Amino acid sequence: MSFASLGLSDALVRAVTERGYTVPTPIQQQAIPAVLSGGDLLAGAQTGTGKTAGFTLPLLQRLATDNGRSAQAGGRAPIRALILTPTRELAAQVEESVREYGKYVKLKSMVIFGGVGIQPQIQQLRNRVDILVATPGRLLDHAGQRTLDLSRVEVLVLDEADRMLDMGFIHDIKKVLALLPRQRQNLLFSATFSDEIRTLADSLLNRATLIEVARRNAPAEAVSHRVYPVDRERKRELLAHLIKENGWRQVLVFTRTKHGANRLSEQLSRDGIASLAIHGNKSQSARTHALAQFKNGALPVLVATDIAARGLDIVELPHVVNFELPNVPEDYIHRIGRTGRAGSEGAAVSLVCVDENKLLADIEKVLKRSLPKDVLPGFEPDPRIKAEPIPNGRNRGAMPSRAPRSSSHTARAEPARSSHSRSQGPSWRGSAPSRSSDSRNALR
Ligand code: AMP
Repeated sequence: MSFASLGLSDALVRAVTERGYTVPTPIQQQAIPAVLSGGDLLAGAQTGTGKTAGFTLPLLQRLATDNGRSAQAGGRAPIRALILTPTRELAAQVEESVREYGKYVKLKSMVIFGGVGIQPQIQQLRNRVDILVATPGRLLDHAGQRTLDLSRVEVLVLDEADRMLDMGFIHDIKKVLALLPRQRQNLLFSATFSDEIRTLADSLLNRATLIEVARRNAPAEAVSHRVYPVDRERKRELLAHLIKENGWRQVLVFTRTKHGANRLSEQLSRDGIASLAIHGNKSQSARTHALAQFKNGALPVLVATDIAARGLDIVELPHVVNFELPNVPEDYIHRIGRTGRAGSEGAAVSLVCVDENKLLADIEKVLKRSLPKDVLPGFEPDPRIKAEPIPNGRNRGAMPSRAPRSSSHTARAEPARSSHSRSQGPSWRGSAPSRSSDSRNALR
């Protein structure tokens, strides 16, 4: 199976070949012909499956070969495709892909997101923009100021729609939909199919093609999981010990809160381990800088919240550390999905204190196995320390609440998400586990 055999033009095949792709991934094999046919699409695929090229390539081809409504005489060239993403990072990465895959076709793209000045965006919007990649909030700011016109959009893509709903963007999405022409092609990508996603799909899509690729990690066979039971106040010390003793050079560390991420990163730096934190409160340039340093190997430790890390194109990491377990087991799978890829054995390490035993049990239930536990000499948990409830955690209420607590546990969890949709889990979880390795192999 080649990209050319999927019906892509020479210009696009050339660009992907230069990028080093030879074989389309399973999602690409299914999505490319479906999008080229012009119909609506509902695709179940998460980051790492190659979904971005799966919608970008056929989108570029459709716009490049069809002059569409831009042929209308006079006036400004219209925005012809709109790609909505939940986070700034994802928006930036998707637009980078659009530019890269589209380098031999004559289409202009632009990315807009919040957290940066709006004026330069307004300036750029005065020029021709065929493909706009945006986060919903800033897009609506522009719409409100009438600095962009979405009335001639031909293709709408909702990327990581489940995460957009989790982040509370449903009203923004509806407002954006109201600005689009009724006649258009709709592509909806989501890692999970919750009831909310189905409702959105029902209202948005018209006789859509449904494609699903198995979750990349259900769970990943190449990942070795290890749990270190440890007291909550000694986690940072244990993490520094593990990094130094094992000589880890590229570690993605997850915390539950923004505040916890900052605090941990500062403490590690004081321990002589260079690290930076990324989360929703950091400026875009700080996040881009941290990510670039981490990717090129200059920065050994990146501390992130789930939301900040979601959608980041950082894969094939040797080590992922759960400094705190996530509140929903599915996020554990997302987190470890960044390690143990491309044949290299990855390690997912979790530092688990007594408060988190319930969360660990939930994760083990989803993984359908218990994870190996390793008590490190010198870090044995003190049996006298009792479990305390985790704010916004699912074991809240298991214990009477007690104050004071360490600040890393009292900080508010990020983000405000709908526990309803998350607890539903992916509808196809376990439905096609054998196919997960196919999509992984395809990316090697
Ligand atoms: P995505 O799921 O779109 O975030 O893509 C995940 C990663 O796979 C990115 O680093 C892409 O550059 C890479 N990728 C996408 N398509 C292919 C392909 N056909 N062959 C190899 N790598 C790919």
